[in-house]
Amino acid sequence: MGDRAAAAPIGGHEDAAAGNPQAASSRLWRPKRVLLTRSARSFDHGRAIAERASALGIEIIELPSDRLMLDRWTDPRRAYAEAKQTLAVVNASPSKRRLQPIAPSADWRVDLAEGCPAHCSYCYLAGSLKGPPITRAYANLPEILAALPDYLGKGSVTSGTKLRGHEGTTYEASCYTDPLAIEHITGSLSALIDFFGRWNADVQLRFTTKFSSVTPLLARDHGGRTRMRISVNPPAFARHEGGTSPVAARIAGLRLMAEAGYRIGLTIAPIIAAPGWRDVYGDLIDEVAEALLGIPVDLTVELITHRYTPGSKEVLTRWYPGSDLDMSARNRVEKRTKFGSIKHVYDPPTMAGLKSFFEERISQALPGARILYFT
Ligand code: SF4
Repeated sequence: MGDRAAAAPIGGHEDAAAGNPQAASSRLWRPKRVLLTRSARSFDHGRAIAERASALGIEIIELPSDRLMLDRWTDPRRAYAEAKQTLAVVNASPSKRRLQPIAPSADWRVDLAEGCPAHCSYCYLAGSLKGPPITRAYANLPEILAALPDYLGKGSVTSGTKLRGHEGTTYEASCYTDPLAIEHITGSLSALIDFFGRWNADVQLRFTTKFSSVTPLLARDHGGRTRMRISVNPPAFARHEGGTSPVAARIAGLRLMAEAGYRIGLTIAPIIAAPGWRDVYGDLIDEVAEALLGIPVDLTVELITHRYTPGSKEVLTRWYPGSDLDMSARNRVEKRTKFGSIKHVYDPPTMAGLKSFFEERISQALPGARILYFT
């Protein structure tokens, strides 16, 4: 397909949930600089990202090659802060365009970007992405989109399964980034939604977000083939989610998306079994139920408990030394993944208590919702 990106800023600076009292504090990300690699400049989409950023008054640095200058800041605190304020526009390599399975969410993972500008003190990306946390947006969107049909009808998470086969072949776009956090500059998520809207096949695009700026997505011709989920935690745990949108604004954004005909979902993640968790998660579920009152919705729920690896703990402790997020051995057991690495998850009694609480509470407050998994 052609590269359809327009250069005008997408969505402006207004939050989608502008009517919501908490939305005012939800600002769109404004990086200090955009690095544009040489190869990225050869794609309309890459140039459009740079033009959009430039229209917002952001400095554009055209690099002479495809190498990012990542070793400029030697002080680790400074390196973190500067990286989080940098958007690099690069091309996804052929290996990154080969899709990988992504259980339990979807058949396949499709990446529009890598990295995220927010500052969550439990972020799973800390354990999976190497180096300074620059956000890299992919310019070669036409090549990324062209690869997707090869995977149609393949996969083992939803395709051909008894429980989720009706979802068709599923593609998850929020594994290595939060695509809505950067959408006002990249336009990539809108283009992907449009692609699935035109793709007359048994397919579904999925993405989840901790942001509320849904305005650019509301009028897309999505064809019912996109499920948007919000990733939420109770406001009491918001101190662990720096730089994201207020939870109430995310919920308001979810309602707007449902009204625009999207399939919707809740990703309750990461579930934190801190003292008082029953009360605050119960209130959160009630708040969602109240926000969705009166509109017909196709609603799914995904439940992901907090976990960390030795590697992610080391990186997160360095990035967020003041965080009071519990990463001690209390209530934890070690679990070995199928790749042989270790992760620390809640112990069986804690997991059982969480699982039964969420299943019961969701079935009471959101009786039409379908829980896809608890992990
Ligand atoms: Fe990580 Fe998601 Fe937070 Fe971004 S919003 S920092 S991807 S947990």
